[in-house]
Amino acid sequence: MKIKFKNFILIGLLLFLSVSAFTIGGVKKGKTKAKRAADPPKKFIDPANMDLSVKPGDDFFEYANGNWIKNNPIPSKETRWGSFGMLAQENTNRMLSLLAEVGKTSHPAGTLEQRVGDLYASGMDTLTIEKLGFDPIKPALARIDKITDLNGAIEEVVFERTHGEADPLFRFGVGQDDKHPNKNITNLNQGGTTLPDRDNYLKANPRNQKIQDAYKQYIITLFALTGTDNDAATKNAATIFGIETALARAQLSRVAMRDPHVTYNKFSVADFSKTTPHLNWVALMPELKVPGQDTLLVGQPAFFRAEDSLLAATPIDDWKVYLKWNILKSSASALSSPFVKASFDYSSALSGQKVQTPRNERISRLVDGSLGELLGQLYVAKYFTPAAKQYMVDLVNNLKVTLGERIQNLTWMSANTKARALKKLAAFTVKIGYPDKWQTYTGLTIDRNDYFGNLRRASEWRYNYTTSQISKPVDKTRWGMTPPTVNAYYNSTNNEIVFPAGILQFPFFDFGADDAVNYGGIGAVIGHEMTHGFDDQGRQYDADGTLRDWWTKDDADKFKTRADQVVAQYDAFTVLDTLHVNGKLTLGENLADLGGLNVAYAAFKKTKEGQSNKKIDGFTPDQRFFLSWAQVWHSSQRPEIAAQRILTDPHSPEQYRANAPVTNIDAWYAAFNVQPGDKMYKKPEDRIKVW
Ligand SMILES: [Zn+2]
Repeated sequence: MKIKFKNFILIGLLLFLSVSAFTIGGVKKGKTKAKRAADPPKKFIDPANMDLSVKPGDDFFEYANGNWIKNNPIPSKETRWGSFGMLAQENTNRMLSLLAEVGKTSHPAGTLEQRVGDLYASGMDTLTIEKLGFDPIKPALARIDKITDLNGAIEEVVFERTHGEADPLFRFGVGQDDKHPNKNITNLNQGGTTLPDRDNYLKANPRNQKIQDAYKQYIITLFALTGTDNDAATKNAATIFGIETALARAQLSRVAMRDPHVTYNKFSVADFSKTTPHLNWVALMPELKVPGQDTLLVGQPAFFRAEDSLLAATPIDDWKVYLKWNILKSSASALSSPFVKASFDYSSALSGQKVQTPRNERISRLVDGSLGELLGQLYVAKYFTPAAKQYMVDLVNNLKVTLGERIQNLTWMSANTKARALKKLAAFTVKIGYPDKWQTYTGLTIDRNDYFGNLRRASEWRYNYTTSQISKPVDKTRWGMTPPTVNAYYNSTNNEIVFPAGILQFPFFDFGADDAVNYGGIGAVIGHEMTHGFDDQGRQYDADGTLRDWWTKDDADKFKTRADQVVAQYDAFTVLDTLHVNGKLTLGENLADLGGLNVAYAAFKKTKEGQSNKKIDGFTPDQRFFLSWAQVWHSSQRPEIAAQRILTDPHSPEQYRANAPVTNIDAWYAAFNVQPGDKMYKKPEDRIKVW
């Protein structure tokens, strides 16, 4: 359960709301398609989307995207709007049409169609959902009422977790051992809080005040809806906020956790139990369904020591309130409309979303989240072609060869380290489109008339599946994203790059587009994921995914000097009033963007178009390459989500992802005649060269 995936973008930012809150909405169903059908022949780089009054050297993002942004205000059910959101909307529309197709007839129990269709139908059955109110969580609330002591509370923590109900106090799971990536091991990580980041609890400023007020109101509302009187509900909010603030104080920051050695702490289960006298892991681990383990990995040992002290020092009645809250917050969006509304009111205070995403879209995304490799089979059968897969295979190979050449030619790295880097590059596993072996969800029953039960069973199934891996060798065929996902990732312990079918669409990729457009789009995405293998974290894992230092000291120092320059470049970008990009938090992604764009450009220069000077729609091949990169990022966002992302998202805001890498690439200066005096101009000796 450790977070090892490096995504191309961060989606599902609001997943903290509950198991079922996928809140990336979009334009009205069918609008995108209808608009496209009426368009004249496609311009892959369209001057109508650009702002030609802006000098490219002053603000390349505005130059490339200014009119698009002006003409495409953020829809009220969105928090940000750009190419990723539009493609996600398109994919949601596709999922809805697949679900409608499946729903036309009934299917034998246990089949793919029955499970996918009935999960969707159960989520759309608002008549039953409204009638039930909060009945589905009454047994859990009654169970907590009966707790009398700390042992009872800890038993409840185990119960909620093993039954897919909630994840109180900490995060727990089974995953690869970073130093033995072919083995699975139990992972314990900090958790137990609700707000997106520890800073939301700990830093006093007007923005956090607003977030804290909305959060407390959310707690009061949910308790009031379940029959608690207003005074008690208000007191509960203070209790929960107090406990979570204490937990937040004990948590490591996201920046501190970027160092994989900091979060790699192997203990014998017996020794670790001695550091947490109230949490006896020797007894708890079998109850948590990982029996027979001598060792475990702890991400943040100090957090667990602090949590243990808090367990002892806090009255049992307060823990009961906290445990009830964990049930309430993880259930609200799956209950009747007053609960859903409270959940949305809270999330919109944090994200700026104006209106709720339509229910059918929310439920289709939930089906993708719960049964993604069943729905995904229908998706790829209809929307993904073998030809697209072959194109990707070829493109990945071109980029691999080119990155290898670039590593060979690095001036700052010794031959020794280069040989190891090349070995790592050659060992990349590449996954494209969809898994070779689909997840079967064996044993997961979906009942057309039981929405809440379906969600709980799906969640419990996931828990059981994850923990059952403890006794098995690592299954490297698994995917961390579903096929319709508009994203890509690198996984350091598998040393693999993965591209779901969903991202293989325009503006990333189009069969009809020239190479400049495809290399500047999906080519740069591929280069980005490859470069993650060599970013500040990825470089610490070797060719077979082991966390092991393969660098000479001198080469590592030279890498760090260059990485520090990237940190400084991004730290200087102010996003919102006083909020600036966190250069340390975003370092891995920024290195990946810079490396990815460099390798994609070098590979593009080997193509026929890359070697010609023939203009298309008024732009040279090099101009089209860089404009394609910039147009991938056409996007705007609400201030609330912008502020949240500064704290939590390891990716920089879109305009800086478009602008910052190009300032370090000489060819961009030549392509757009960028000169001293232009706002983005950097002297040649200041341009950062890493990969
Ligand atoms: Zn990335």
